[in-house]
Amino acid sequence: METISLLENKRIVLAVTGSIAVYKAVDLASKLTQAGALVDVIMTDAAQQFVSALTFQAVTGRPVYTNMWQADNSGGLETHIAHVGLGEGADLIAVIPATANTIAKLANGLADDLLTVTALAARCPIVFAPAMDGGMYEHSATQANVSTLLERGATLIEPEVGRFASGLEGRGRLPDTSTLIGHIRRELGKNGALAGKHLVVSAGPTREAFDPVRFISNHSSGKQGYAIAQAGLDAGAEVTLISSVDLPTPIGANVVKINSALDLQDSVTRAITDKKADILIMAAAVGDFRPANRAEQKIKKQGDDEGLQMNLVRNPDILKSVYQLRQSPSDLADTQQETLKQLKVVVGFAAESENLLENAQSKVQRKGLDFIVANDISAQDAGFAVDNNRVTFLHKDGSREELDLMSKTKVAEHIIARVAELLV
Ligand code: C5P
Repeated sequence: METISLLENKRIVLAVTGSIAVYKAVDLASKLTQAGALVDVIMTDAAQQFVSALTFQAVTGRPVYTNMWQADNSGGLETHIAHVGLGEGADLIAVIPATANTIAKLANGLADDLLTVTALAARCPIVFAPAMDGGMYEHSATQANVSTLLERGATLIEPEVGRFASGLEGRGRLPDTSTLIGHIRRELGKNGALAGKHLVVSAGPTREAFDPVRFISNHSSGKQGYAIAQAGLDAGAEVTLISSVDLPTPIGANVVKINSALDLQDSVTRAITDKKADILIMAAAVGDFRPANRAEQKIKKQGDDEGLQMNLVRNPDILKSVYQLRQSPSDLADTQQETLKQLKVVVGFAAESENLLENAQSKVQRKGLDFIVANDISAQDAGFAVDNNRVTFLHKDGSREELDLMSKTKVAEHIIARVAELLV
């Protein structure tokens, strides 16, 4: 697993309590560790009924804390008093899974085990993911305790509805590891370089229908756009992801689903004129043409070997239309003109199979971009559908920045870092 820049060397206190879902917290501890975080696990007595401390120690490579009274609790922490040492310098306390009992104790400030004492002593943010069977989560006592923690600034990872270990159904299941990590990233990133900014990013191909079941499209996977959305979230931005693909939604992003270039244009325009957007990144592979007509019914084959002639018309250039709107916004209502003024940074992509840099540079000017991310789609090891990309940033002042071959995740982080610099 690739490290996640936001998590690298972050100290996360993973406080696990006695729910059957504690076995899922082992996977969480492992994935957080692989992502680069330093995970200190505290276990309640009840948690140890389900999983042993050794299991967490094995996946985190760090001591596990189980006992408030243990004298030998050094574990490399700066202080000999575990509950202070654990909380001190921690970036986050994640109570996952959180039982009704521990939530009640935290809400009332009880401090009768290492977990609750540490939570009281620490001053870092707390996230908690309730996991409990039967109707315990919905019980008014639990709900009142959850509300108290929320009022005090803790972040709730809402349990999911589904089947419990008991066979009953209801709300109370711990979400999967990637969802839990998504919430942890959101919490750790909230004061990042793009805090308070709204990023609009488009991802994936467009689909241009010519009858109810068929369309013209391209090979874009949407991975780069999704990676940008996640990097934006990690930097604390509010993110609107306009997408045509079904990749897992980055936790915290607002996803707007589209198909055609006209849908995309409509969603982009609305995002920047009706909802203040600071940044627009067009990573979508927009089809240049669409069928002139769309048949109401599925087009039938005619004869045994008769082909089909189709007329294509040009799609609007969305980036160019955004540029034109910014230059002469007079067609817009006054409030929309005001909203559009918020847009400070616009980034495009250029995928070319020849004369990459020349073609890309001319697009920077034509489309009114701050910079363009140029990638050579003829390369075998980078570009469409794969996880890696080799790109060059071409800036509007003519300067260039060539990046090595790297994952789309890292490319996304570079893009977000440049955007953040442009906003200062
Ligand atoms: O002109 P070209 O398609 O190579 O430009 C690519 C960039 O322009 C991408 O950022 C893409 O999202 C955007 N684009 C657009 N509207 C189009 C075609 C491309 O906004 N019709």
